[in-house]
Amino acid sequence: MATKEHSLYKLVSKDQAEAFAWSFEGPNTEAVLYPFQFPPIRPDEVRIQQTYFGLCYTDCHLVNQDWFPISYPSVPGHEILGHVVQRGDQVTQFQIGDLVGAGFIRDSCGKCKQCIVGNDQLCGQVGNEHLIPIPKFGGFATHVQLPAKWAFPIPNTIPQHLAPPLLCAGITVYAPLKRHFGANKNVGILGIGGLGHLAIKFSAALGMRTTAISTSADKEEEARAYGATDFICTKNQEQMAKANGTFDMILSCASANTVDEFIAYTNLIKSGGDFVMVGIPALTKVELQLPFFALVVRQISFVGSLVGSRQENYEMLEFVNKHKIYPTCEQFEFENFKGAYDKLLNGRPKYRCVVKVGNAPETLKQ
Ligand SMILES: [Zn+2]
Ligand SMILES: [Zn+2]
Repeated sequence: MATKEHSLYKLVSKDQAEAFAWSFEGPNTEAVLYPFQFPPIRPDEVRIQQTYFGLCYTDCHLVNQDWFPISYPSVPGHEILGHVVQRGDQVTQFQIGDLVGAGFIRDSCGKCKQCIVGNDQLCGQVGNEHLIPIPKFGGFATHVQLPAKWAFPIPNTIPQHLAPPLLCAGITVYAPLKRHFGANKNVGILGIGGLGHLAIKFSAALGMRTTAISTSADKEEEARAYGATDFICTKNQEQMAKANGTFDMILSCASANTVDEFIAYTNLIKSGGDFVMVGIPALTKVELQLPFFALVVRQISFVGSLVGSRQENYEMLEFVNKHKIYPTCEQFEFENFKGAYDKLLNGRPKYRCVVKVGNAPETLKQ
């Protein structure tokens, strides 16, 4: 059970709890159950009772302070799915009972330059409110309270147990693929894992020529089943040489950590093409080196991409619903959250971990 109390979420006994979270009290610690009461709902917020939520490796990076220091207790989690059970006075777009999802972004101001041009995921004006998982409580909980603006209606035709990862992994790969879309483009998806398997499906469904690029040759059959028309094993020198300079874009869903790896991958890109990064490795363990020569002499663009805007989220969900693009998930019960987290951190889940909340809020009270 939790011992550290958060300044906003009152730690109470189980029978007085409005909700239960899995909380971390320090880096590299086990999650503990945190029965709590929410702070008063803001006029622009909704409270969601979750049906399922997803785990993302970003949560592990945050909890373990791989990127920057955080405060504890911490309840991360940013693949949120459930029904609206309470709404603030200003919320008109949702009714009680509506099924909604939310991802990595908590709020945006709607007024700054980025918001006005539609890049509201990059809003720099909401400080601590920008991201879901910190410093407020995120999705590793039976209930979540967040601004309605960044909650998205989920069509009831999308299977709920497969929906949470779409709100982070899905939008993370859909948005850059769409932004760099071209009908005849040749796209390489680097890494077939939690992000990569979805990226192959999205890229193929968008109609681009899609090649899966992996360190393991035995993933070829699977990658082709997801829609890849070609496959390259990075350890196969012949395949790598043949693909030299053929891609308009590589979407990197794996972390390249050495300059040799970066050079090998950028060699696959046409001059003037793009290397798009959506993952961030543990910055405490990696010293990033860039292939400066290729970047300048062949005008390769190295670009990052952060989840997606609200508009891109709406589009992604519509696209998913039309093309039936779902992640491959392993499912865990709420009570066995630690099993899910451990699998993500130390195992190799195939490919996303999803937790079923079910009637945990009632059974945990007893
Ligand atoms: Zn994520
Ligand atoms: Zn803004």
